[in-house]
Amino acid sequence: AQAQSTSDIQAALNAAHAKFKDVKDGANADYIPALAKVDSKIFGIALVTPDGKVYTAGDVKSEVSIQSISKVFTMARVIEDQGTDSILKRIGVDATGMRFNSIVSIEFAQKSLGGPEINPLVNPGAITATSMVQGGSRDAVWKRILDFHSDFAGRPLAVNKEVFDSEAATNQRNQAIGALMYAYGFIKDNPSQATDIYTEQCAISVNAKDLAVMAGTLANAGKNPVSGKQVMKSDNVPGVLAVMATAGLYDDSGKWLYRTGLPAKSGVGGGIIAVSPGKFGIAVISPPLDEAGNSVRAQLAIEAVSNALGGNPYAAK
Ligand code: GLN
Repeated sequence: AQAQSTSDIQAALNAAHAKFKDVKDGANADYIPALAKVDSKIFGIALVTPDGKVYTAGDVKSEVSIQSISKVFTMARVIEDQGTDSILKRIGVDATGMRFNSIVSIEFAQKSLGGPEINPLVNPGAITATSMVQGGSRDAVWKRILDFHSDFAGRPLAVNKEVFDSEAATNQRNQAIGALMYAYGFIKDNPSQATDIYTEQCAISVNAKDLAVMAGTLANAGKNPVSGKQVMKSDNVPGVLAVMATAGLYDDSGKWLYRTGLPAKSGVGGGIIAVSPGKFGIAVISPPLDEAGNSVRAQLAIEAVSNALGGNPYAAK
């Protein structure tokens, strides 16, 4: 693979920003009331290479809530602490083919004979992964999750309290998911605490650059290319990327992988991260979402930038 020149990369970001800035398709998530109020015009692209260079186009200062992108890093926390088998045996790593908050997927997971058939990137698996984070007290578990996200971003991240409160007041569906996962033995204790911490992790506030550094850390074998810190073991990164490839864009994960080849993860706050291993981590924020819950402009921009830079890991060069 050819290393891209600095000016090629910047040109690819600029071109994608110019091409998609006026796209008006999609709508902000509104099932979490605070998300409906976020400025739909925010559109920022950031890319980080393994040598620690950061490229940006558009609005990379505005922050949104990380939402489901946090599922990647909480899964990674569990794998770091308890090994790759922990996720495989308790939650599973198979696509559900259903929406991210599907209750039906839990019924299938429970009935399956061959082991758990869900994954940590849809809500039932994600709330279970949060329940598996070690620490004891709520505060200790929460600190380990927030600190891990901050290490990936290379700066101390904080929670958007308004988003947390708004989702906590309206997340009865996720509470039901947590309760069902407990009833079926996936969550071992205190499902309401797991759902509450999960809701808080979804409200971590990030800008496009933060997300790109997080993706860049995954692209760089677990070493943050900007801070230089080895955040997770390099051996544990491929499993994380595999689940992202399988289920990162929910029920559209197959279509996304077909077009880009990139492990990725979306959030209903409007962010998407994607990873081209050894080449770059990229993130785009744009709040309007499509039917599956994935940012419209983020998908377009990441696909265009990655194509311009030869980012598809399945394409031999
Ligand atoms: N906090 C959101 C939820 O659980 C996250 C969903 C998402 O980003 N897809 O509904």
